Amino acid sequence: MKDTSCIFCKIANGTIPSYKVYEDNDVIAFLDVNPASRGHTLVVTKEHFSNMTTCPKSILDKVFEVAQTIAQAQIAQLGATGVNVLTNVGESAGQTVHHFHVHVIPRYDNDGLKLAFPPKQLADSEMTDIKSSIEKAL
Ligand code: 5GP
Ligand code: ZN
Repeated sequence: MKDTSCIFCKIANGTIPSYKVYEDNDVIAFLDVNPASRGHTLVVTKEHFSNMTTCPKSILDKVFEVAQTIAQAQIAQLGATGVNVLTNVGESAGQTVHHFHVHVIPRYDNDGLKLAFPPKQLADSEMTDIKSSIEKAL
């Protein structure tokens, strides 16, 4: 499905320029315009899916294959010593562009970048409830 107002659809169809590093029939990868680190790359489906949860699994596989290859290139060619691979689903998770994309963010020793997950502790009963709820849907 095409969304003519979507910035990543426009990049995917070449209407808007990007620093493209990879392209095949289903996937395009380009540098993030506001990189969190040197080499921050977005791996994006060519077709418009709002986020990871609505992307067909066959295309999802391809996106993550490309993400792996980009991460390997960042390590081999940019001197990254680590990589964060992440995708935001929904505004509460920080998604601002509602076209599925995976961030591949190279990390460098002492780069000062913080992707924080403040630790929480839940009671055993709550952990058990959560486990059952998720399992029910699988
Ligand atoms: P989100 O917060 O939706 O997971 O990430 C969207 C990302 O897209 C942000 O990191 C932002 O910098 C990037 N971005 C937004 N607009 C453009 C654009 O026009 N070109 C490129 N290359 N990146 C963009
Ligand atoms: Zn789109």
